[in-house]
Amino acid sequence: MTVGREPTVDTLHPLARRALAGLEPYIPGRSAEEVTARYGIREPSKLGSNENPLGLSPRARGALIAALDRIHHYPDPDCSELKRLIAGRLGVTPANLCLANGVDNVLTCLGLAFLDPGDRCVVAAPTYTAYASRALLLGAMPVEVPLTAWRVDVDAMAAAADGAKALIVCNPNNPTGTIVGQPDIDRLLARVSQSTLVVLDEAYAEWVDDPAFPDGPTLARRHDNLVVLRTFSKIYGLAGLRVGYAVASPGLVACMERVREPFAVDRLAQAAAEAVLGDDDYLRSAFENNRAGRAFLGRAFAEMNLESLPSQANFVLVNLGRPAADVAEQLLPRGVIIRPGALWKLPTWARVTVGTAGDNIRLVSALADVLGRPRPAPGG
Ligand SMILES: *Cc1c(COP(=O)(O)O)cnc(C)c1O
Repeated sequence: MTVGREPTVDTLHPLARRALAGLEPYIPGRSAEEVTARYGIREPSKLGSNENPLGLSPRARGALIAALDRIHHYPDPDCSELKRLIAGRLGVTPANLCLANGVDNVLTCLGLAFLDPGDRCVVAAPTYTAYASRALLLGAMPVEVPLTAWRVDVDAMAAAADGAKALIVCNPNNPTGTIVGQPDIDRLLARVSQSTLVVLDEAYAEWVDDPAFPDGPTLARRHDNLVVLRTFSKIYGLAGLRVGYAVASPGLVACMERVREPFAVDRLAQAAAEAVLGDDDYLRSAFENNRAGRAFLGRAFAEMNLESLPSQANFVLVNLGRPAADVAEQLLPRGVIIRPGALWKLPTWARVTVGTAGDNIRLVSALADVLGRPRPAPGG
């Protein structure tokens, strides 16, 4: 069990690649184990990492236990059965899929396959920080395009993409929870050159209820420069197992398969992912729990006079009106973990994951306590 963080070494070893000097270390959300060890709270509400608060799907649990009997065998390097199941669900073929050790690993594969040193890679700001750090690691140059009114500005991004090798849109965007609708994505794809790779990171797609949200996998079948990313870490509740994938043309997929590690998705991860794909009861409960919780948090923040953004994902970005890192620290002994916004240069904002109804009430009361505001009425 890891408790707290290892002390970090600030100076780089002289043998390190030059690209490492430009990288900020990734600061993950706090772990439940850390809060338990520090404050003796057995079940903290872990609302800092956008995981599924319902825990492991019962079907996935059964599949994991069954898979243990063959754990001494290497996994299927092609994830054939899992690819067949995903392809069936999305209406694509297995040749349209590249599976790896989480979307983070898919991003590494994309970089290794497509980014040369000096290539420009257009990203929004703020967005998921892994895009820029992966580009920098490979000697490529992230070009940041600010959001307009908290939304990804596809026209400004398309304009910045002239001569760029890649353009990445996180949809819904982390940390804002806002989406880019079908007409905007269509316009983006029409404007951007075929020699620019367009990546849509749809890690949160399964939580969306806005009908304007585009059908990424269908678009990926039609556009030879488009890659759509999906993960089992969010609605499928398998963040600890690490499975993510790309949907793209067979030509793009073949490039990623060349750089991917052969056994990137382990045996347990494949078994659990195969099982949870068919666990419709679990997925429906997760979706409904999130839709209700997201609305509850939006109302509660409004009652507390805190500005928050309308979200299509399983998190809400909220302005706490004072340094969010301090507030986050004060929430820990109250058993609540949130993600302060310094990571995205939004120091008074925090991103909170929608939890169970119990988690959400715990968050709102703890926050009212720390901020010295009246508690909003319970319910929802
Ligand atoms: C959580 C998240 C991912 C990470 O997915 P993994 O499959 O767990 O690596 C990818 N993209 C975004 C935008 C995320 O928020």
